[in-house]
Amino acid sequence: MATPEAVASASACPLDCPDACSLTVTVEDGRVTRLDGSAANPVTRSYICAKVRSFADHLYGKDRILWPQRRTGGKGSGSFERISWEEALDDVAANLTKVRAESGGEAILPFSYGGSNGYLSQDTTDARLFRRLGASRLARTVCAAPTGRVAAAMYGKMPGVAFADYVKARLIVVWGANPSASGIHLVPFIQEAQKNGARLAVVDPRRTPLARRADLHLALRPGTDLPVALAVIRWLLAEGRADLPFLAKQTHGAEELFRRAEPWTLAHAAEVAGVSAEEIEALARLYADSSPAVIRCGWGLERNRNGGSAVAAVLALPAVAGKFGVPGGGYTLSNSGAWSLSAEAAVGEPEQDTRVVNMNKLGEVLTEGQPPVRHLFVYNCNPLATMPRQELVRRGLLREDLFTVVFDQVLTDTARYADVVLPATTFLERLELSRGYGSFALQQASPVIAPVGEARSNHDVFAELCRRTGVARPDDVETAEAVLEAVLRSSPRGEELRADLAAKGVAAPDSGFHPVQLETVRPRTPHGRIDLLPKELEREAPGGLYGYWPDPATKDHPLALISPATGERISSTFGQLHRRLEPVRLHPADAEARGIRDGDRVSVSNEWGEVVCPARVSPDVRPGVAVLPKGLWSHNSENGATANALAPDTLTDIGEGACFNDARVEVRRLPPRP
Ligand code: SF4
Repeated sequence: MATPEAVASASACPLDCPDACSLTVTVEDGRVTRLDGSAANPVTRSYICAKVRSFADHLYGKDRILWPQRRTGGKGSGSFERISWEEALDDVAANLTKVRAESGGEAILPFSYGGSNGYLSQDTTDARLFRRLGASRLARTVCAAPTGRVAAAMYGKMPGVAFADYVKARLIVVWGANPSASGIHLVPFIQEAQKNGARLAVVDPRRTPLARRADLHLALRPGTDLPVALAVIRWLLAEGRADLPFLAKQTHGAEELFRRAEPWTLAHAAEVAGVSAEEIEALARLYADSSPAVIRCGWGLERNRNGGSAVAAVLALPAVAGKFGVPGGGYTLSNSGAWSLSAEAAVGEPEQDTRVVNMNKLGEVLTEGQPPVRHLFVYNCNPLATMPRQELVRRGLLREDLFTVVFDQVLTDTARYADVVLPATTFLERLELSRGYGSFALQQASPVIAPVGEARSNHDVFAELCRRTGVARPDDVETAEAVLEAVLRSSPRGEELRADLAAKGVAAPDSGFHPVQLETVRPRTPHGRIDLLPKELEREAPGGLYGYWPDPATKDHPLALISPATGERISSTFGQLHRRLEPVRLHPADAEARGIRDGDRVSVSNEWGEVVCPARVSPDVRPGVAVLPKGLWSHNSENGATANALAPDTLTDIGEGACFNDARVEVRRLPPRP
């Protein structure tokens, strides 16, 4: 028998990860047999994470949805029968039409998040369909809402320090991020900087791999980043280390920031954060003494009641200490704002003034919302695994009068509750245009294989639903290629981007690959200065910007539960491939106080739910903290619940974001499993 010929094709990863790897995909006999990194993206430098290296398991695994299905058993049973696309689209379109006619468009809730960060997979034809139906609008706030609001108000989303320029820094502060698990391409640049003599400080409740290598590790109590950052700001001023000329020339609001930092002495912040005053002073001194100094601000610090103000205080640090204006100096948060691209022109329908549903409140909206949601259309998202108040979400999904459509690549926990399941293509089976929000890279990827089973692209399915619900118009942008063109045309540099994509496979944003903050890129605020006290944030934060809200722990629920990302999943993506029970991690002192030993069966619980799982006793977790990974699926615990079952649906001070890290729990030893 002849050996199939191996064909290598270029692609790019559009998953929800900062790095945006360029890829080489090997296809043999029409099947993907290998994924590797390619050199097209200069930051990701020909290597990729283990998650995507094993992408063939996702493409061809037993959980892949191969054809449309209709529910045959009870909701949540996962019992379905195969139906044709014709039947499935007719069912879905008929229900959309019926619900709209009987209850109004707002009874339809489209629900999506970052399952793909591609421009062609979200906010294009889907937006056209749901806007024309007058559906409820979704506030996509589960992640990056506080950081996005703050970065926009303070800096106008100025592009950040490029990962490659971290090698020029003398100090790197990694604050609330764990690049070893998510965003791995930053790590070698940090290591190279350390080899060059740079110092490394890590602020994180856990001893992450980078914290182990750091010169300084501040293991804060979750939710106390704000007082610590304010104490550093206060110290810089008190010690004469604040850059007053820079503040006078380049910022607004410094005086009031200092006034609000004044109560946060090192001792006061130390007491609240559960670290020593000496450790906070060491961080402040190291920061003042080092230049260039760069802060990698992550998303861990936003996920609590003080999240927005905490991010604002951390982003104020380079302004206060005068760290801008040199390569390798400043901060990096999300670089999504570096791109002035949008698919809006391809939508063909302005946004409607309909009800806005905060996605973090999905459970409440499904169980108590007015008007009641009667049609839930889920795509690019697995809300049962990723939204707070998991048991309330589940109760909502169990409603017999709710028609749920899940359009996904694999049978997720949410899909098991669907009335109709539709098979979606992955990025290897369709055209995509995507940009990194860490690395500065725009990439176009053509399909490298035919769709697996009967999978269809988001674009195709939403365009078809427009037709079947009678809202399509003759001048609609119809093909994926035309949507891509419209996205490129939305930039004044569209021609140049197109040429770079064709010639090099990758294009840079206006700022180029190596922006220097306050030198080659400037704050894009209305006055062109850094705003340390933006009026809109001041109005929004319940206690005013930089106001601190104390820890929500109670006597019954004293432990702070955090749910950080791991190297196995991207949020919940790839969760079907990891089926073992996941342990809750506890510090040895907390375990001993509860009579818990490594491997014991335990209950992690609070007023919202319970997770039954094994315990792992680990000195890498600070005392008073419990850790259960983010994005787990029901098969990862004994009782089908995950950390999200314990997460409150309260919202952050700014941006109405999720407060996952405000979950407070107790952990109890259980008898061994019968
Ligand atoms: S998930 Fe991130 S690290 Fe992995 S291949 Fe995609 S962009 Fe690269």
